[in-house]
Amino acid sequence: MKHVEEYRDGALAQGLAAAIRAEADPARSYRLMEFCGGHTHAIARYGLEDLLPPPVRLIHGPGCPVCVLPVGRIDAAIRLAARPGITLCTYGDLMRLPGSNRDSLLKAKAAGADIRMVYSTLDAVAIAAREPEREVVFFAIGFETTTPPTAVAIREAEQNGLTNFSIFCNHVLTPAAIRAIVTGAEAARDGVAIDGFIGPAHVSTVIGSEAYRFCADEFAKPVAIAGFEPLDVLQAVLMLVRQINQGRHEIETQYIRAVTPTGNRKAQALVATMFEPRPSFEWRGLGALPDSGLRLRPAFARFDAETRFEVETVPAPDHPGCACGTILRGAKRPEQCKLFGTICTPDSPVGACMVSSEGACAAQWSYGRFR
Ligand code: SF4
Repeated sequence: MKHVEEYRDGALAQGLAAAIRAEADPARSYRLMEFCGGHTHAIARYGLEDLLPPPVRLIHGPGCPVCVLPVGRIDAAIRLAARPGITLCTYGDLMRLPGSNRDSLLKAKAAGADIRMVYSTLDAVAIAAREPEREVVFFAIGFETTTPPTAVAIREAEQNGLTNFSIFCNHVLTPAAIRAIVTGAEAARDGVAIDGFIGPAHVSTVIGSEAYRFCADEFAKPVAIAGFEPLDVLQAVLMLVRQINQGRHEIETQYIRAVTPTGNRKAQALVATMFEPRPSFEWRGLGALPDSGLRLRPAFARFDAETRFEVETVPAPDHPGCACGTILRGAKRPEQCKLFGTICTPDSPVGACMVSSEGACAAQWSYGRFR
């Protein structure tokens, strides 16, 4: 399959790994954070860390939308779903995400709440059209990649005159999280230092490579935006090693087959008409970050479930034994969590990072190849 198999060529991977080994200076460290959970899974699945020399260390970042959703927002969704007349539509991963006391939407559904798994935002709009007697709420989460489909759903509901469709908005912004990690206000309280970033693939197709300009200009951190195949990631690592060796800090794009400097202007414009930054939004592991989440603009308040149903979010702690927050800041690895693989497994997850298909703990469980 073009653009897939050709990026999984073993001989080329060995060649890139040899170049990284040859160029990485044993006397220095290259702490590279892969922001995106998709990259974390690619790295684990293909055993890419096994190919890298000791000075090059990959650090898992907070780029898993399910993982970064804090417990208080999950609790709020569960309470919302339990209200009479409400139908909560959600993606599959979110169903098993633990809230306080290991409650979940799945348990709420078993207890009688009308919670339905959907595959797209438009599925939720279709339910609202079919069942006008129900108040249909779409549990909207994700980074810049998933916000445009949410905007499309709102536009569809508006065009069809639906008055029983709304969203519980939890969309978040990638640059704000990267900034938090670099500045270390909250994130680096564990002393995590990063020498460069492997930039996300899908998010960057929407926001464009220039969205990371601040990393280079303000913080002198190099970025290499990579695709999701093993050769993509290895090539991005090599680009970062070269930048660090040469004292450069530039925004480079390895994933040139999909990412442009300015991104998808049409999607950006659609999102900007409906959404605005929240003054502050809480992330699991990173705490409350300014301008890091989106909410609907007042003109679209009728589609905002938080406004319509006066949803209250009460901050709540993670399970006391769960290290998800520390893992999402890059300060711990999954296997360093004392619950990993014993009390916490994919069949009985304690934390979000084991539930999500993009979570670092799920990757470690599935492939067990992180070092
Ligand atoms: Fe949390 Fe489970 Fe991962 Fe530990 S193994 S950090 S409990 S998700």
